[in-house]
Amino acid sequence: MPQKFKISKDEAISQVAAQLDGPVALDEFVRRVLVIWPSQAKKPEAAVRQTIRDYHAAKTVIFMDDKTLLPTPLALTGVTLRVPLTRSEVKNGLFYIYPALEFFLPQDFPPDEVQLVDEDDHTIPVELITRRKKVKSLLGEYEEEIHAWKLGWWYRKRKVKKHHNILVTVLDWTAGKFRLQPESQKEYRLIRKEVAQSNQQLADIIFDLLENSRGERIYSGIAIPTAYARLQGNVTCPPDHWRDVVESDPRLRYSGFGDIRYADSFTMLDRLMSGGRRERPSPPRKKLSAAEKQQVYTFKAAYKQRKGLWRRIEIQGGQTLYDFDRILRDVFKHDTFDHMSGFWRLVRRGNSRRFREVDLGSINPFGEGDAAGKKIAALGLQPGDKLKYVYDFGDWYEHVIELEKIGEPEEKAKYPRLIAQNRPRYHYCQNCAEQGRKTVAKYICYDCSEWDASVWVCEDCIYPDHEDHYLQEIVY
Ligand SMILES: [Zn+2]
Ligand SMILES: [Zn+2]
Repeated sequence: MPQKFKISKDEAISQVAAQLDGPVALDEFVRRVLVIWPSQAKKPEAAVRQTIRDYHAAKTVIFMDDKTLLPTPLALTGVTLRVPLTRSEVKNGLFYIYPALEFFLPQDFPPDEVQLVDEDDHTIPVELITRRKKVKSLLGEYEEEIHAWKLGWWYRKRKVKKHHNILVTVLDWTAGKFRLQPESQKEYRLIRKEVAQSNQQLADIIFDLLENSRGERIYSGIAIPTAYARLQGNVTCPPDHWRDVVESDPRLRYSGFGDIRYADSFTMLDRLMSGGRRERPSPPRKKLSAAEKQQVYTFKAAYKQRKGLWRRIEIQGGQTLYDFDRILRDVFKHDTFDHMSGFWRLVRRGNSRRFREVDLGSINPFGEGDAAGKKIAALGLQPGDKLKYVYDFGDWYEHVIELEKIGEPEEKAKYPRLIAQNRPRYHYCQNCAEQGRKTVAKYICYDCSEWDASVWVCEDCIYPDHEDHYLQEIVY
């Protein structure tokens, strides 16, 4: 019989969090929830853990690491955001609450209830003003409410000028109480080195969250408070505002949809947004030296579906993905006049066994396509690194390519070249076999094959039986 509970699972989680005065192990937290919210589910612990991750991360508790929770009000108390004032804010005596303090107020906190104090804990009385602003987006134009505090008198009193930052420290997250402290450009310059270090640490934490996320994106509303909470106590001064930190880190990208992604990942939607153009942030192109162009890259390419089918190929650093595509088509018997192909780079995520794919672009048989001109040496591959190669986006022949080594070229050798391949396991022509001959088959006949019995045919036996049949060359 279903039991009737007095409180919901969410309420139980909030209650347990409210009673904490320090960090607690996730397992212990779950145990306490189940005491006041008994469940007869098969795996109640897993259900509670999932609810915490999905609905309470940052809102109620912060994951200080995978297994340790801290209630959000405790985790964020003391966190300082460095907010650069824009020219118009200084000129108009305003402080725009968003995006400056985004994610650092409880959800739906009324902006007119925020309390501000100065360094001496004196209240800074503020007036909230709300403006409506038209915003253009993919879905059309809409109006957005913009909240700002009128702080002109305080700016004048504290001699806040352009290029000033305001350091905003969370004093009481639940009550929406912050301390404001102006920072002049001169003061900022003096600690620039320390700020740079804090920025690096913040970026590293965010990147680590991304590397360990299940998808290839993290939601800023969870990631940013988590990152600041984890940073706290580990830095000598507050970092720049996270938006600036994310924007200037070459690994990260703020997507504009509220999430943070890998800088080199681009989705269909991103392409749509950029009007079909491929907007890939390309790192500054380094000019390859003559020696780098000469170097020989030894790759082992294998069919994804049949790992036993592989080819070892050497190609030089100065040669392109188009050259690579040509030889791959050749050695795997793909059509060299038909179909597109494409390369991806497989990048290991953190220390995990998961890889993410970075699109390097595609190539058509005529040597065009955005990947065609990319030079092998410019990919920055190290031995052990992997690529994915797909021939024909319709039938999707997928290959995994591993860089085995980088070495020097042999004299007079011509690259790219095939240097080794798997030992073939031949199929023999059945027609010839019936006549007592052993001939290596060259084709499989799809018209004659049954699902459990393939029909192999040699060159000479095509006529007359398989003349009009669909034959495919066998790759050994
Ligand atoms: Zn034959
Ligand atoms: Zn046939």
